[in-house]
Amino acid sequence: MPTRAFCDCCDEPTRQLFDITRIPELASVVRQFGYRAVCQACYDNLFEELEREREREEEDVDA
Ligand SMILES: [Zn+2]
Repeated sequence: MPTRAFCDCCDEPTRQLFDITRIPELASVVRQFGYRAVCQACYDNLFEELEREREREEEDVDA
């Protein structure tokens, strides 16, 4: 039996964890929330969140 890994973000057991400490774009998330390894769903969510934030920043610059 393989050891089950748990997502740092949603605390659900997952078969595949993404090491977000290696991803420069998510460095702020790692620092802020202390997440180190997350599941696919949370990984996608974090990137979506990042995308939204970037769009907001761009709007601020234009205004
Ligand atoms: Zn998760």
